[in-house]
Amino acid sequence: MSSDRIIFSRPFRATRELPNVEAVLSSDHSHGDGPFTAAATAKLRDITGAPHALLTTSCTHALEMAGLLLELGPDDEVIVPSFAFTSSATAMALRGSTVVFADIDPETGNLDPASVAEVITPRTKAVMVIHYGGVGADMEGLQCLADSHGFAIIEDNAHGLGGFYRGRPLGTIGTVGALSFHDTKNVHCGEGGAVLLTDEILMARAEIIREKGTDRARFLRGAVDKYSWQDIGSSYLPSELNAAVLDAQLAEFDTIQANRHRVWNHYAAALPEWAARNDVRLMNVPADREHTAHLYYLRVPTEHRRDDLIRHLSGLGIVAPFHYVPLDSSPAGLKLGRTPFRCARSAEFSATLVRLPLWPGLTEQQLDRVVDGVTSFTV
Ligand SMILES: *Cc1c(COP(=O)(O)O)cnc(C)c1O
Repeated sequence: MSSDRIIFSRPFRATRELPNVEAVLSSDHSHGDGPFTAAATAKLRDITGAPHALLTTSCTHALEMAGLLLELGPDDEVIVPSFAFTSSATAMALRGSTVVFADIDPETGNLDPASVAEVITPRTKAVMVIHYGGVGADMEGLQCLADSHGFAIIEDNAHGLGGFYRGRPLGTIGTVGALSFHDTKNVHCGEGGAVLLTDEILMARAEIIREKGTDRARFLRGAVDKYSWQDIGSSYLPSELNAAVLDAQLAEFDTIQANRHRVWNHYAAALPEWAARNDVRLMNVPADREHTAHLYYLRVPTEHRRDDLIRHLSGLGIVAPFHYVPLDSSPAGLKLGRTPFRCARSAEFSATLVRLPLWPGLTEQQLDRVVDGVTSFTV
């Protein structure tokens, strides 16, 4: 059985990866900001329409850069969804800011503007939003609050490269957008990320923050004749080896996405009847959003039966995990965060969620096995 196990996620292999890496190694310059960094960055600007993009060593580091760019400090609060990956919260806590948890919209798993409105205080300096599974959050609702209360929006867009909310590319709607190229994401380079920006002034600061607080980027463009320490910063610039893999992947972005959507659409077409009979909710994409086929998830009525479904699939050699442990109930969330109102919808979402295998190389035969596995289970 184990030889034909259907794993949850398998990184895409792009044709130019090895030749690109070979070219970097042969050039004797594998530190960052070489030709592959430039090429991959241009492709990202193309895909997202963002005026400015900077590759980083991870999405977590891109979020840390957001915290530095927005000058978050110990007097500030950042509102973060309870249902989120740890990076969204820890990058803010690292600046000494208080993380304030808000609940989600159970239709999408995304931050709910009404819950955000309930926890805003005069100290609220930013709101973190995740486009869960690559389905855009209610950006209009959040932007209204941001405009009237004067806080920034940070988009943790680890799932949403190539997605749209009402025609606007995800990651470019808020003040700062962050992307992930971890090997579990749609496009990867092992570990990597990017910051997306529209504001010129923030971009000038971001270049410095990313390069150990120096103006090396300006120096490389010939704008200054030596570079020096300008500001606080860190080493968030990925090596040219990572950029070489990323550039190869981005060159095949359309193929990756077409194949992920093929898998997503297969599930979406095959499961509704079983779902209706078993009171299971399928992943839902509101009509005004274009998703990225990052995830396909089901929501089983109870945690107990959800766990049974995971075991049932595992017995058939199919890996279907759940996530995230709600951050407000996690040890660090209890210590570093504040939860003014219980996030009951996040707890329920987390307890009932199952994710099905989704990667570009899944065959029709494997997809049929997953569908048969799911539909042979009676809730
Ligand atoms: C994967 C992920 C991250 C972290 O990405 P890294 O590149 O590994 O730092 C952050 N947020 C979300 C929503 C993620 O899925």
